[in-house]
Amino acid sequence: MARKVLKEVMFEEEEEFEICIKCEKLTTIKKTDNVVYRSGYIEGVGQLCFECSQTRKMHKTGNYGDNEWTRYG
Ligand SMILES: [Zn+2]
Repeated sequence: MARKVLKEVMFEEEEEFEICIKCEKLTTIKKTDNVVYRSGYIEGVGQLCFECSQTRKMHKTGNYGDNEWTRYG
């Protein structure tokens, strides 16, 4: 039987997730994930959490420009 040491490994990865640029919540996107495969990532701006990426069209802040928000929808 192999001993489980996964807990220690996962604990170190806790800080490796992106923070949402809008609500500053921790997202499920890892910093090491390729931006090409991310959802809710805005080039040159940062990462949105799932919730913000789903609602951004209803809550226009105007901070980043409408083109940026719709291009990644
Ligand atoms: Zn958010």
